[in-house]
Amino acid sequence: MLPVTSRLPGVGTTIFTVMSQLALEYRAVNTGQGFPDFEPPRELCERVSYHLGAKHNQYAPMAGVMPLREAIAAKVMRLYGRATSPDTEITVMSGGTDALTSSILALLHPGEEAILLDPAYDSYQPIVDLAGGRAMRVPLARPGFGIDWERLAAALGPRTRLLMLNSPHNPTGACLSPADLDRLAALLRPTGAFVIADEVYEHMVFDGVPHASVNGHAELAARSVVVSSFGKTYHATGWKVGYAIAPPTLTAEVRKVHQYVTFATASVLQYAIADFMTAHPEWEAQLPGFYATKRNRLVELLRPSRFTLVPAESTYFQLVDYSAISALPDTEFSMDLIRKHGVVTIPVSPFCANPPVNERLVRLCFAKEDATLEEAARRLAGV
Ligand code: PMP
Ligand code: GLN
Repeated sequence: MLPVTSRLPGVGTTIFTVMSQLALEYRAVNTGQGFPDFEPPRELCERVSYHLGAKHNQYAPMAGVMPLREAIAAKVMRLYGRATSPDTEITVMSGGTDALTSSILALLHPGEEAILLDPAYDSYQPIVDLAGGRAMRVPLARPGFGIDWERLAAALGPRTRLLMLNSPHNPTGACLSPADLDRLAALLRPTGAFVIADEVYEHMVFDGVPHASVNGHAELAARSVVVSSFGKTYHATGWKVGYAIAPPTLTAEVRKVHQYVTFATASVLQYAIADFMTAHPEWEAQLPGFYATKRNRLVELLRPSRFTLVPAESTYFQLVDYSAISALPDTEFSMDLIRKHGVVTIPVSPFCANPPVNERLVRLCFAKEDATLEEAARRLAGV
C-alpha cells in the first residue's frame, strides 16, 4: 500500500456524525445533530414529485435554475431591501456547505489569514486549511457570545483576507444586531478583508426581533458572500440546497470553484423550491413563532432539571449548562448522557480551538416533535 499523507491530519469524523451514530447504537433520543424529526411542507414535496415527471432530471445550469434564482432575489428584496441580480449575484449551491467551501476556496490564498469566531461551525477550519490559509481563532465574549471587539480588532492585520461571520449563531443561538453590523463595517473599512456571512438560520430569530442580515447592510454586503440554506428553512436538511449571494466580481470567483466542487445542484429540488417560494412567500414568516414555541416547550420541560438554561435568541439550538451536575469536560459528559441516560447532545468544545477550561455547556436541538422533546426532558430530569 502506498502511504498517504493526510491533507487534514487533525480531522476525524464530525462530532455530528459521531453523535448520530451513537444515537442509533444506544437507541438514544437524538437531540444532537441539527435536523428536524418532522417533514417538509407537503405541497413542497408534491412539487418535487411533479418535477421528477416533468423532464427536469438532467443537469441544472451551474449557477442554479433561473426560476429559483429569481425567487431568491424576490425574497431578499422583500425581506432586506437589497436588489440582487439573479444573473450575476446569486448562485444556487448544494447546501450551505458547498456555498461556504466554494467561497473560502475562492477568496483565501495560501498564507493569508481567516478569522474564525469561537465557537465556530465545524466546516470552516478544515476548508481554510485546504486553502492553505491560516485560521485565527478569536473567542466570542462570555457571557452572551457577542463579538469581543477588542480581540477582533487585535486579530485584524495586513494578512487578514477573510472574516467568517455566523448569525444566527450555531451552537449558541446568539445574534448580531444592526449596531454590531455598523461597528463591523467601520472596523473592516480600512482592511482588505472579505466577509463570509453564514446566515443559514436567518428565518429562526425569536421574540419579535428582526434578523440583522448582511444583505440589509449595503457597506458590508459589498465585501461579503451571504450564505443561506433551504435545508433549515423548509425542514429538509437532507436535500442539500442552499445559496450564496455576493457582488458580481466575488460571485464570478465563487462560481469558478463551485463549478468544479459540485458543478450543479439537483434540478428537481430547485424547480420545486422555486414553485413553493413563489406560491408561499409567507412561509418564512411563521418560522420564528413555530421554533420559539418549541424552544419555550423545551425550556419549560427542563425547568425542574439541574441544568441551567439561557433561552436561545435564535436557531434551533439550546445550550444547557451542566456545571451544577458534573465537572467532566463536555465531550465526556455528552458520552455519559448517551450511555447512562439515552440522550444525545452536542458538546461545545469541538467548535473551539481553545475551549475555556471551566465552560460546561452542551447543545440540544429542539427542531423535534413535542414527543421527542418530552422524552429527552424526562430522561434529562434524572441526571
Ligand atoms: N452553517 C451552519 C452554521 C450550519 O449549522 C450548517 C448545517 N446545519 C451549515 C452551515 C450547512 O448547511 P447545509 O446543511 O445546507 O449544507
Ligand atoms: N449543522 C448541523 C448541526 O450543527 C449538522 C450538519 C452536519 O452533520 N454536517 O448539527
